[in-house]
Amino acid sequence: ATMPPLLSTIANAGRHGVLVKSAVVMERLGQVDAVALDKTGTLTEGTPRVTDIRPLDGAVLDEDGLLALAAAAEHPSEHPLARAVVDAARARGFALLPAVDFRSSPGIGVTATVGGDVVAVGAPSRLLTGHQETSPAAALASELEAGGRTAVLVQVNGVAAGVLGIADRPRPDAAATVAALTKLTGTAPTLLTGDNPRAAARLAAEVGITDVRAGLLPEDKVAAVQEWEKAGVKVLVVGDGVNDAPALAAAHVGIAMGRAGSDLALETADAVIVRDELATVPTVVALSRRARALVV
Ligand code: ADP
Ligand code: MG
Repeated sequence: ATMPPLLSTIANAGRHGVLVKSAVVMERLGQVDAVALDKTGTLTEGTPRVTDIRPLDGAVLDEDGLLALAAAAEHPSEHPLARAVVDAARARGFALLPAVDFRSSPGIGVTATVGGDVVAVGAPSRLLTGHQETSPAAALASELEAGGRTAVLVQVNGVAAGVLGIADRPRPDAAATVAALTKLTGTAPTLLTGDNPRAAARLAAEVGITDVRAGLLPEDKVAAVQEWEKAGVKVLVVGDGVNDAPALAAAHVGIAMGRAGSDLALETADAVIVRDELATVPTVVALSRRARALVV
């Protein structure tokens, strides 16, 4: 028996390592005319490493203390940056300190209580407000960001204790994927990220993206998608994080990175990349177009 083209195309996409959740999604993939890609965990490998541990001058914590406290607060988080912090602490042989009252704010960071102290770990631009924008902590974060790092601020009871520098590599197939998507849609993909503008610009340059939108909260990613959709542009969003879920839902098609993607992103997305190869995104778009050509 011959399968209807869209169903056999779903099976084919599966062989390429992409789980497409329905025939409607399979069809929509071929309709997209713009692509928006998340940075951390999507264009990058998502296994970032802590490269700098910088306690603030005069702060009570040394390098080890700063890392240990940050790791305790980050431990419950599934964010790639959190895993980097926990791995760095484990690499130094630290046992994780117990933390309670864990809370996470997508696109911002985490807080938890460790040994009676409230520890916040997250984006300097979000945690340092008002007069703190010109503080030594902000200058330190800025210095690390100028080097292309993602700077993560550690606060103890609301007071800056230090900054961690974190670096991530582009996926080996990121540049080829951007080139293939550019060819398919006629326009280069856009980078949508919650990270700082300098780390975003560096990564974008490495993979061939020029349209960069950085410092975005989850709702800002949605607004960007809605702007396109209002202009009649059907946009494909690829992301991995809790912070990407609303944009994945708003997009014409949302695709989640499967291996390290958050549960929320996997549930919300219309399709999941199960083999962790970003290059399968243009492949499934092309498959959909070919199937449509057969149907029409
Ligand atoms: P992206 O859009 O690149 O995937 P996110 O929106 O997940 O990035 O995160 C944006 C920024 O928020 C990060 O660069 C970081 O500064 C901060 N952040 C978010 N979650 C965490 C976390 N668990 N630990 C530290 N920082 C975090
Ligand atoms: Mg991400």
